[in-house]
Amino acid sequence: MVSTFDGMTALVIGGASGIGAACSRRLAAGGARVVVADLNAEKAAEVAESIGGEAVACACDIATVEGPEAAVSTAMDLGRGLQFAINCAAIAGESPKPIGEFDVETWHQMINVNLTGMFYSLRAELAAMRAYGEKASIVNIASILGVVAVPNRSAYTASKHGVVGLTRTAALEYAPWGIRVNAVGPGYIETPMLAGISEDIRERAVGRHPLGRLGQAEEVAELVCFLGSPGASFITGAFYPVDGGYTAQ
Ligand code: NAP
Repeated sequence: MVSTFDGMTALVIGGASGIGAACSRRLAAGGARVVVADLNAEKAAEVAESIGGEAVACACDIATVEGPEAAVSTAMDLGRGLQFAINCAAIAGESPKPIGEFDVETWHQMINVNLTGMFYSLRAELAAMRAYGEKASIVNIASILGVVAVPNRSAYTASKHGVVGLTRTAALEYAPWGIRVNAVGPGYIETPMLAGISEDIRERAVGRHPLGRLGQAEEVAELVCFLGSPGASFITGAFYPVDGGYTAQ
């Protein structure tokens, strides 16, 4: 395997499961020192242990200012800066309802984790990257629902549209320091996040992807990791779907 990430320190927030775990594995295989940060500290430790290399785990709740700050400190404490961060943590847990009936508490929870948590993560990462003074990059995991909508998922859709807006803003603000920021929009991907959906919803989701299947976490990780590699040196402020054709329709 080509060691694209030799010498890099990478932070994966939400790295204990699904897409984040696949990114952590891909980065470690490419030679990066990986900090696996997650709300689920036990699973983060398991992933860090299993991917080998110099991986370490860190407990992190992105819904607090201190959570991402601790994750970034863990990375900086490894002593060689932070060259790549992936912001993958989010929740899907809403009871689907049209806006007129949407549960207010669920709205606040979704926005707090998925959007404000992304802001806290970017805030900590960008400050550290700028202070260290090297080229670096960040990939935010948005969703196809960052650019299109479906009925009854207003909070998730609004949070992911917000992630795309934050990505573009951060890219413009930090380009002068050589820090690139991009977003990736997965279609429906086979991860624990989809574990609770009914067979009927799953079938319908498959039908909405022109490639006729759901995606795998590793297929998302390939794109995410490319965006953090030297090969993506002229790419910033962009949103890339990895969605089996979902948003082409
Ligand atoms: P996943 O397997 O559920 O992984 C998400 C991880 O984030 C879990 O380990 C989860 O911990 C953690 N997390 C949740 N809340 C957190 C918090 N407050 N602070 C820190 N970590 C937290 O889901 P996934 O499918 O890999 O999703 C990864 C990203 O892709 C998310 O941003 C998601 O919105 C996006 N995405 C997924 C799909 C899909 O179909 N799977 C489609 C489009 C976009 P717990 O397990 O303890 O909650």
